[in-house]
Amino acid sequence: MKESDILIIGAGPAGLFAIFQAGNINLRCNVIDSLPQPGGQLAEIYPKKPIYDIPGFPEIKAGDLIKNLLKQSEPFKPQFILGERAETLEKSDDNKWIVTTNKGTILKASVVVIAGGLGCFEPKKPDLAELTIYEDKGVDYIVKNPEKYDNKNIVIAGGGDSALDWAIELSKNAKSVTLVHRRPVFRASDASVSRIFEIQDSGKATVILNSEVTKLIGIDKLEKLEISNFETNEKFLKTTDYFIPLFGLSPKLGPVKNWGLNFTKDLILVNPENMETNINGIYAIGDISHYPSKLRLIISGFYEATKMAHSAYKYIFPEKNHTIKYSTIQGIKPLS
Ligand SMILES: Cc1cc2nc3c(=O)[nH]c(=O)nc-3n(C[C@H](O)[C@H](O)[C@H](O)COP(=O)(O)OP(=O)(O)OC[C@H]3O[C@@H](n4cnc5c(N)ncnc54)[C@H](O)[C@@H]3O)c2cc1C
Repeated sequence: MKESDILIIGAGPAGLFAIFQAGNINLRCNVIDSLPQPGGQLAEIYPKKPIYDIPGFPEIKAGDLIKNLLKQSEPFKPQFILGERAETLEKSDDNKWIVTTNKGTILKASVVVIAGGLGCFEPKKPDLAELTIYEDKGVDYIVKNPEKYDNKNIVIAGGGDSALDWAIELSKNAKSVTLVHRRPVFRASDASVSRIFEIQDSGKATVILNSEVTKLIGIDKLEKLEISNFETNEKFLKTTDYFIPLFGLSPKLGPVKNWGLNFTKDLILVNPENMETNINGIYAIGDISHYPSKLRLIISGFYEATKMAHSAYKYIFPEKNHTIKYSTIQGIKPLS
C-alpha cells in the first residue's frame, strides 16, 4: 500500500501545482493519472501549442509549462502512478481514505484531491469486430513504452499529430513502420507531415493514404492486417507485430461519479472558500470543480490548488496553528 498525506487524482496543471503548494507546507503527495505521462490536456492534446495567458510567461508552449511544473514539484518527491485509473474510494479504519486503481494499486491518504479535468481520457477505437480479441496481443491504443516496438513491424492508423508523431518517433528503431490514413491528406502539423514523407523517402516508413485497416488476423496474437483502399477497392494483407490505432482520446468521467459527491452535470460542486466537496477530506480543483462564476482556465486551477493545500493542512492537523508564509521568506524545504 502506498501512503501519503494527500492523494491527487489527475496530473494536469492543477494536480501538478497542488504537489508544489502542498509540499511547501510539508505535505507529501502521491499522484494517479490514467494517461502514461503527466500533464493532462496540455501534454495529451496540445503540447506544442503556445499559451499566452500564464502570468509571467508572455508565451509558453503547453509541453514546456508541464516540464516547468514538474521541475517545481521535484523537491517534494511526489510518487506518480501513471497509466492507472482511480476506481474505488473507501474509508479506512483509521479515518483515512483508500483509493484503488483499475490495476489493483492501493493508495491511502488523509486527503483526496480530485484534479480530474474533463475525466479519464479513453482511446477512440476503430469499429472492427475482432479488435478486442487482440488487445494486449498486438493491439495498443497508447504508446507507453516506445522500446517495446524496437525491431518490430508496426502499423499505425490515424491522421492527426499523435499518429504522425509516433510514426516518426518509432521509425527510429522499429523494423518497419506503416502509417495508414483514411483520407488523402493528414490533419497533423505541416512540419510532421513533411517529416513523415522524408522518412518514407529514406525507406524507414511507408505511408498508405485513402485506406483503412478492415480486418485483424492471427491465432494466439496479431499476425496480419487486411488494409483496404477506398479509391481502388483493392485489399491486401500486411504482416505485422503491432497495430496502433491513434484516433484520439475522448474524456469520460468514469468511476468518480459513483463516489457520493455532489455534481452539476459532470462537474463536482465545491465550497469555493476551500475547494472542499460535500465529503470532508475530499477536495476538487481545476476544470472538474464547479462553483458560482468559475472560470475554466489553467490559472484557476493554480489558485484552487493553493487554497486546497492550506485547507487540507488544517484538516489533517486541526490542532496546529497554520499561517501562510511567503516563499521569499521560507524558501524551499525539500521533503526527504
Ligand atoms: C486545445 C486547448 C487549448 C487550451 N488553451 C488554453 C489556454 O490558452 N489557456 C488556459 O488557461 N486554458 C486553456 N485550455 C484549457 C486547459 O487545458 C484546462 O483548463 C486545463 O487543462 C485544466 O487542467 P486540470 O489539471 O484541471 O485538468 P486536465 O488538464 O484535464 O487533467 C486532468 C487529468 O486527470 C486525469 N484523470 C481524470 N480522471 C481520472 C481518474 N479517475 N483516474 C486517473 N486519472 C484521472 C486525466 O487523465 C487527466 O490527465 C485549453 C484546452 C484545450 C483543449
